Amino acid sequence: MPAHHLGRTPLDTLNTFGVHAIARDLWRVHALSDLPGLVAQLQALAGPLPFVLGGGSNLLLTGDVDAPMVQVALRGFRVVRDDGKTVIVEGAAGESWDALVSWSLAAGLNGLQNLALIPGSVGAAPIQNIGAYGVELRDCFDSLDAIDLRTGCWRSFDAAECAFAYRHSVFKTPGHTHWLVCAVRFRLSRSAPLQLDYGDLRAELARTGHTAPSASDVAQAVRAIRRRKLPDPAVLGNAGSFFKNPVISAQQAAAIQSREPGLPCWPTSGSEVKVSAAWMIDQCGWKGFRDGDAGVHTAHALVLVNHGHAQGRDILALALRIRDSVHARFGVNLEPEPVILGHATL
Ligand SMILES: Cc1cc2nc3c(=O)[nH]c(=O)nc-3n(C[C@H](O)[C@H](O)[C@H](O)COP(=O)(O)OP(=O)(O)OC[C@H]3O[C@@H](n4cnc5c(N)ncnc54)[C@H](O)[C@@H]3O)c2cc1C
Repeated sequence: MPAHHLGRTPLDTLNTFGVHAIARDLWRVHALSDLPGLVAQLQALAGPLPFVLGGGSNLLLTGDVDAPMVQVALRGFRVVRDDGKTVIVEGAAGESWDALVSWSLAAGLNGLQNLALIPGSVGAAPIQNIGAYGVELRDCFDSLDAIDLRTGCWRSFDAAECAFAYRHSVFKTPGHTHWLVCAVRFRLSRSAPLQLDYGDLRAELARTGHTAPSASDVAQAVRAIRRRKLPDPAVLGNAGSFFKNPVISAQQAAAIQSREPGLPCWPTSGSEVKVSAAWMIDQCGWKGFRDGDAGVHTAHALVLVNHGHAQGRDILALALRIRDSVHARFGVNLEPEPVILGHATL
């Protein structure tokens, strides 16, 4: 079956910042059997490597996209293996991430509950190793299937091959962006202990009277916190946290703390520490700042927002000002979390 060729397509409703941009050539994949034909057509075009689009919730479009774009609309969830204790489940890449979380919880399986309500697709979730409330995707990842968009070859990746790190995987490294993820498998459980060691989550569970919460209670608590704290992209365009929390040496963190007491730090597995980007941005006075329609959320200094008609380059210009001010005051480099695509980058 051929992939649907939509050609020139506005991307305004296909990115959660809600900025205007045009894809010169968009293809949509509905079935695995679409893929060999799509690869052959892309090979015949002999153009640049295509960009794979999920839900556009981790994307800042700073201009029209000249490279071909492939949107993944593969659907379905299934249980792959069940030994009574551990259950391997698989989600097709075009499914909504939160729908997978809900489906697995309804099946009595725990593991994904802390990651409830993260926007986007199943296929994009491993790309930046999504994380929230003390859990990362890699904690219950099993494997994924992907197709090489240059050659049409299929391959499975296990966790080690994905090289997951904080908001990172092998798929974000140069030379590995030609993979289109088709399906992702998770190792879930009927009995694994829940991860509740996260301040806000504990407080929410206590507030709602859950002394022995189930996985579904945890998901409900996470959803309640997220709805309170984060702007809904359908109402106020955004891509969640715009900057990653920088990982710096313990020595540099101590030097900053001696000048700037209060900098929140979290240990990492090595000798480095992760420091709060939100705190540094807030200290530089950006929370609630607005320049035209590009702004910083009033409650969350890490979230850049589109108040209506901002263009991608307006949001990028604001991000550059924030990055430079944090560097000038703290000597720390902020890296963007979303993928920046178009004519300008950070
Ligand atoms: C309100 C809000 C809150 C958020 N909260 C969190 C959070 O708590 N934690 C977190 O980690 N993220 C968070 N995000 C970011 C975002 O939801 C995730 O990064 C999500 O996984 C992006 O999914 P997507 O389908 O929208 O991907 P897109 O934005 O479409 O794409 C992101 C990247 O993935 C690649 N990609 C997409 N699909 C595929 C595929 N099938 N195969 C290969 N590559 C692919 C793209 O090429 C691109 O590089 C938040 C975003 C918003 C708007």
